[in-house]
Amino acid sequence: APVMSQVPVGSATHCPYCALQCGMHVAGGEITPREDVPANAGALCQKGWTAAELLSSPERLTTPLLHGRPVPWDEALDYAAARIRALQAEHGPDAVAVFGGGGLTNEKAYLLGKFARVALRTSQVDYNGRFCMSSAAAAANRAFGMDRGLPFPITDIGRADAVLLAGGNVAETMPPFVRHLSAMRARGGRLVVADPRLTPTARLADLHLQVTPGTDLALALGLLHIAIAEGHADLGYLAARTTGFEQVRTSVSAWWPERVERITGVPVAQMREAVRILGEAPRAMVLTGRGAEQHAKGTDTVTAFINLALTLGLPGGEGSGYGCVTGQGNGQGGREHGQKADQLPGYRRIDDPAAREHVAAVWGVDPGDLPGPGRSAYELLDALGTPGGPRALLLFGSNPAVSAPDAGRIARRLAGLDLLVVSDFVLSETAAAADVVLPTTQWAEEAGTMTNLEGRVLLRRQAAAPPPGARSDLEILRGLAERLGWGDRFPADPRTVFDELRAASAGGLADYSGITYERIAAETGVFWPCPDTGPGGAPHPGTPRPFLDRFPTPDGRARLVPVEHRPAAEDVDEEFPVYLTTGRVLAHYQSGAQTRRIRPLTEASPEVFVELHPDLAERLGVGPGDLVRVRSRRGSAVGTARVSASIRPDTVFMPFHWEGANLLTNPALDPTSRMPEFKVCAAAVERCDDG
Ligand code: SF4
Repeated sequence: APVMSQVPVGSATHCPYCALQCGMHVAGGEITPREDVPANAGALCQKGWTAAELLSSPERLTTPLLHGRPVPWDEALDYAAARIRALQAEHGPDAVAVFGGGGLTNEKAYLLGKFARVALRTSQVDYNGRFCMSSAAAAANRAFGMDRGLPFPITDIGRADAVLLAGGNVAETMPPFVRHLSAMRARGGRLVVADPRLTPTARLADLHLQVTPGTDLALALGLLHIAIAEGHADLGYLAARTTGFEQVRTSVSAWWPERVERITGVPVAQMREAVRILGEAPRAMVLTGRGAEQHAKGTDTVTAFINLALTLGLPGGEGSGYGCVTGQGNGQGGREHGQKADQLPGYRRIDDPAAREHVAAVWGVDPGDLPGPGRSAYELLDALGTPGGPRALLLFGSNPAVSAPDAGRIARRLAGLDLLVVSDFVLSETAAAADVVLPTTQWAEEAGTMTNLEGRVLLRRQAAAPPPGARSDLEILRGLAERLGWGDRFPADPRTVFDELRAASAGGLADYSGITYERIAAETGVFWPCPDTGPGGAPHPGTPRPFLDRFPTPDGRARLVPVEHRPAAEDVDEEFPVYLTTGRVLAHYQSGAQTRRIRPLTEASPEVFVELHPDLAERLGVGPGDLVRVRSRRGSAVGTARVSASIRPDTVFMPFHWEGANLLTNPALDPTSRMPEFKVCAAAVERCDDG
């Protein structure tokens, strides 16, 4: 095989979208699935098949824009750097904020965090992954001492005998994932899905728990209560591998099934059946998705599901365990390399003196010069342009004007900035409001690594030439760093950045030091942690199942933590009598900035809709296809009615890929993870007679 060049080039790469990171070949504008990547093994979804269309889209940006005017690169970067200098000179380092994304490669996420802390010396850096899986990450860190989405290879799902999926709709968000569930069911395994809607995923299930929005925590407590009462607690496992069971046993004793039924709407018999399926399975899994996680009590909700998994003795086995089904393409890697307000590379805490010392040495700066933790994503966005808040924002790989909760408020904050710089390859809603727009390369036009939902580090090769005029985010960061006097510290080629990331991560929880581009290519991915040497000085093999022998807590045991249910931050009332919940559809990804520009996807799913139950539709005098207006305490949005018995009569659903749904959502934050309450708020619905 030819020696890999500095920038790995070749057709074998991975999908630009979700955390499954399906393997694909891209050649001559054509996409074919790869068979060698276990996550998809020859399958792709509609989004993946059509991903190449955006490479040659006429909507592609190839010239920087300064206040809407095309300008040369030097003029755009000079302007941005001069404004950054002026604002920091007047207001201090924190006057400039940085916002990243869970779709950025590991190299970009790493360099972005370093750019914020070293070139800008700002504490104000966070990313949209805070909106994605931060509560699952916080709960996993609390229980296991480590957060790695699925702490096992995805193919382990096919070896399980039962799976409980709480708040995940993988049949639409990442369809090839269903193959693993199907493999489990083909062996006689059973699937239980908890969701307020009878989604395409719930239709596949042996049992659907149609939970009231905002009550997943109560459901988990009820399941745990039944599991203990009916003798499914694995006392030997609990004694050998965990702490805290007695406190949890005491706390869930109050969550008897009839009480939980009144709160969740899930019949007692169904809860008992779910527990029987999980408790009698030789190997079972508990998985959570955004439906359970995106709540102002998201960390406690996931903790309750982890308590259930631990009580059943699941984590740390083969073909069993707890996992979070991460959403964004690099949702996992994006949270490990320091673009998060409270973290440094290697998944280290920024307030840990030893971590600061290690990373500062790699960066060649004094640990005392590294800023401390800054604001979390929503708090950062909500502080923009306010007294004491940042005056400027540099934004990479995100579209918060559509994707942030209470998005109308955030759009007003963005408009109040002295400087908004957006790096993107299309004019997203956020880019359209920017002072400076920097046109970037896309996934297939650049190389880098992604860490998929299994914690498997993957290599994206450069499979296509970028259009003249576009630059990679690494080149953009270097261009800005040069103008701020730090150019020599910011390499622009991905391999050099990755090698620096490896050094910065060494010894941390997410240790990448033994991972090289060559190894990833040869092994089709390497699981972290992977220190630079393994037993006896041999290359470390990587860690597909990090919890087999012990958990990475000080005593090696997993921790059960008592948690209590509490109502949603905003409950229904006379004025706002229905629950609004949001989610994704098959044809679109995230804010839709990419997929709304791909013709087959917009044909498949052209517009925002409001799904409502026939009973509610009849009460409102609404028929299929009518325009309806949904209002919350924060705003209103209009969509086309989809009348369907698959949703609860007390709930309406809107997809969040268009401007609309997030004008309504509630930015109430989880106290631990700072996750907003995307998944439930109180709303009013009416026929829209004025069009
Ligand atoms: Fe695979 Fe996700 Fe891409 Fe679909 S969007 S092809 S499931 S990585």
